[in-house]
Amino acid sequence: MPYSFLSHLECSACSTRHDADVVQGLCTCDAPLLARYDLESATSAVSTSKIAERSPDLWRYHELLPVRDPGSVVTFGEGMTPLLPLSRLGGSVGIPRLLMKDEGMLPTGTFKARGAASGISRAKEMGVTAIAMPTNGNAGAAWSAYAARAGMRACIVMPEEAPDITKSECVATGADLYLVKGLINDAGVIVADAVAHEGWFDASTLKEPYRIEGKKTMGFEIVEQLGWRVPDVIVYPTGGGVGLIGIYKALLELQALGWISERLPRLVAVQATGCAPIVRAFELGDRVAEPWQGASTVAFGINVPRALGAPLVLDALYATGGIAVAVDDEELLSDQQLLARLEGCFICPEGAAAVSAIRRLRGAGWLSANDEVVVLNTGAGLKYPDTVTVDVPTLRPGERLPRTQEA
Ligand SMILES: *Cc1c(COP(=O)(O)O)cnc(C)c1O
Ligand SMILES: [Zn+2]
Repeated sequence: MPYSFLSHLECSACSTRHDADVVQGLCTCDAPLLARYDLESATSAVSTSKIAERSPDLWRYHELLPVRDPGSVVTFGEGMTPLLPLSRLGGSVGIPRLLMKDEGMLPTGTFKARGAASGISRAKEMGVTAIAMPTNGNAGAAWSAYAARAGMRACIVMPEEAPDITKSECVATGADLYLVKGLINDAGVIVADAVAHEGWFDASTLKEPYRIEGKKTMGFEIVEQLGWRVPDVIVYPTGGGVGLIGIYKALLELQALGWISERLPRLVAVQATGCAPIVRAFELGDRVAEPWQGASTVAFGINVPRALGAPLVLDALYATGGIAVAVDDEELLSDQQLLARLEGCFICPEGAAAVSAIRRLRGAGWLSANDEVVVLNTGAGLKYPDTVTVDVPTLRPGERLPRTQEA
């Protein structure tokens, strides 16, 4: 039995077929390519019970991933993150069946590890030896780590204002790191030039087809963890949108395999009010998102003013009866604190934005008390220590706690 049932690549806009076994970037029409599988053969090769016997990482879905030879897999054991009930927070926002998929548990502390695992493994398999990418920090940290493990070079360009820890991670794992006085799109222009003139492989979001394949495993895992059924709603903090496009792609593949029924969860894309191009396009009923001017938010991973994948995100929202919402920084920081206090989960500001969105959508009646809602926490709060103010007393040895403190 083949390890992967990858059959070809298909353009997401013009449907042109492309060879999956040569290095590919965008389609000639400039749209992203999507990996396609021989799902009919896959159904007879693998079953949900077979998957259940495999190790708890994302490679348990290898028939539906692009890597052909298990020897090419570059892994830190990523995947199968916990799906945690949030009963206290759920009670406070009026969604008793609220679950959080905690991607902060992954290597490098964010869900970016999933895309790096599939992207780097497949690149290695295709003979790529040096990758370059623009990033808001977390993707660069993840790809740099996986590139090091693969013995590959990585050139990473990120905004000067990206989280410091992500710069340290890139330097520690040996990437060529460059900072730019600008936004992720400015980093993208620099990378495109380096790719054209220096021979790096372009690993930019959706410019190579395999990052999304790792990210789609979030969708497989949610469904498997619920006993091979879908929730009512999935809420996702959206920057470039690959995670959401990936989850949608996973759901369609599971349908084609006959492992889930017709009903799909409503997908929710969450952005920050300081950078909400997809929300604006959704509200206008458009399929294209105009670039956002003056983008700024503490939820740095979703500070993406211009996303190549926006049409695919919008398609997924329209097709599932979903919605796009924006929340402001003050709101998301307060929900980040609340979640940590009520549930003990110190999540990233992007994940907190998704929590704020749930509160809003419940308030507006878009979510009901009966809905089973899965929120993606895309990263660990540990990567954003500056989101917490530590203003506490320092005691001398032997000094007593102030009187007001009671155990
Ligand atoms: C990159 C990132 C996002 C946005 O993910 P996309 O798939 O690009 O939309 C959300 N949260 C965190 C922590 C991220 O690093
Ligand atoms: Zn095309």
